[in-house]
Amino acid sequence: MKDGITIAVSKGRILAESLPLLARAGVRLLDDPDTTRKLILPTNQAGVRLIVIRAADVPTYVLNGGADLGIAGKDVLMECDSDNLYEPLDLKIARCRLMLARPQDATTMTGRLRVATKYVMTTRNFFAERGQQVEIIKLYGSMELAPVLGLSDLIVDLVNTGNTLKENGLVALENIADISSRLIVNKAAMKMKQEMIKPFIKRLAEAIPQ
Ligand code: AMP
Repeated sequence: MKDGITIAVSKGRILAESLPLLARAGVRLLDDPDTTRKLILPTNQAGVRLIVIRAADVPTYVLNGGADLGIAGKDVLMECDSDNLYEPLDLKIARCRLMLARPQDATTMTGRLRVATKYVMTTRNFFAERGQQVEIIKLYGSMELAPVLGLSDLIVDLVNTGNTLKENGLVALENIADISSRLIVNKAAMKMKQEMIKPFIKRLAEAIPQ
């Protein structure tokens, strides 16, 4: 959209933690996002609207200019061509870790290991840097199930409290990356709409918890 700015936000925990941050930056939704059927949500600021979409779609919308700005997890950004996006702010919300984990009772692992994950690029880069050849099995969710049912030797997934790993008999081996949500900006929009975007970034920066 030409006029105003569109901000794409990941559904779920990121949306829940973004709304108070946006409110502190002066942007409040006019509808309850849990009950409205609207896909484009107007705000109290004329010309500022939100779209609430799946996490992996946020960088796609922002890269292609469907949205001018986005709020997405670093885990998702590491999986996409984020060189073509500006990432001006670490919002320090929805924090967790991307971890490599294995079954607690696994005996020594030999041969080419199978790693189940949604994070194919990041996992490939992680093992490539170590010079280790692995077979990556792409899953879309419930990674913890894969080693339990013999689909993989290891998993790479987000860990928050560690309860999901524990309850499925898995233990963390290594922290691959500390994750938090980032503000991303379309490069053309940053130029064309800078009189709206720059003050917004400044207000949002001031709203980030220390
Ligand atoms: P936990 O049991 O608290 O360690 O949470 C782990 C589960 O929640 C895993 O299934 C993760 O994929 C998911 N998870 C943890 N943190 C996040 C996050 N920031 N965003 C999305 N999913 C998450």
